[in-house]
Amino acid sequence: MSISLTDTTALVTGASGGIGAATALSLAAQGANVALVARRKDRLDELVETIRADGGTALAIEADITGRPQATAAVEQTVQVFGGLDILVNNAGVMLLGPAESAPIEEWDRMIALNLQGLLYTTHAALPHLLAAAAGARGTADIINISSLAGRFPVAGSAVYSLTKQGVGAFGEALRQEVAGRHVRVSLVEPGPVATELFTHIRPEVLEANKDEWADATLLHAEDIADTIAFVATRPARVVMSELLIRPDGGRW
Ligand code: NDP
Repeated sequence: MSISLTDTTALVTGASGGIGAATALSLAAQGANVALVARRKDRLDELVETIRADGGTALAIEADITGRPQATAAVEQTVQVFGGLDILVNNAGVMLLGPAESAPIEEWDRMIALNLQGLLYTTHAALPHLLAAAAGARGTADIINISSLAGRFPVAGSAVYSLTKQGVGAFGEALRQEVAGRHVRVSLVEPGPVATELFTHIRPEVLEANKDEWADATLLHAEDIADTIAFVATRPARVVMSELLIRPDGGRW
């Protein structure tokens, strides 16, 4: 049994590609008004057109959520246009792998700025609206945080990426306890490797050093994760899917 997303509003960060774009399509197909947040506006505009052509409702919001004013403004614009906020999908993230010893510190700064600070800014701005939505007729609202298999199981080469993703899990679990009595559900989705642009930001020497290990990996599709996120958001209000680890079949991941 699932609940309808008709007349709900969802905000998806990192909606210009990969898991975020697939999630926006999936939530819009279930009837949600979807706010698409990322930096590449041209990509967001294209996705808005696709969603509209399919009969859905979407809004493109160009924002770099590593800046608190932009993250806050993205949430406020969503609420202003659609009248509220029921579902926040904290998806935007970057994965810059490689040994800690030789890592450019700038890569660590980028991961912390987006995977942690960006997520915190967006969540803080969204919380009052989610609490208000949960107190209304629908009786529930969702924060769905996208972590990673690397958040559950750190491995050599993923030290700071794993740090950020474990941080997302820790923040989400504490927040879940704070808001559970007020019917905001907090969920953690932990995908294994997914075929998206995420790997393209990794330094060439790191890709080269790992090419044999990564070459034959079975990859999940962005739609696999999007389906899971839509599943989480459409559970009856009494059900909280607090943690979901998704692995591809057939590999060691
Ligand atoms: P992509 O690189 O395909 O997408 C990342 C998204 O984040 C893009 O839409 C990008 O848009 C957006 N983004 C990047 N920087 C910012 C910023 N400063 N402000 C706002 N948006 C930003 O990666 P995935 O779809 O794979 O990743 C989505 C999430 O899933 C991430 O959190 C990632 O860690 C997690 N994940 C991915 C896995 C995988 O194997 N792909 C496995 C496990 C977890 P733009 O550049 O336009 O701003």
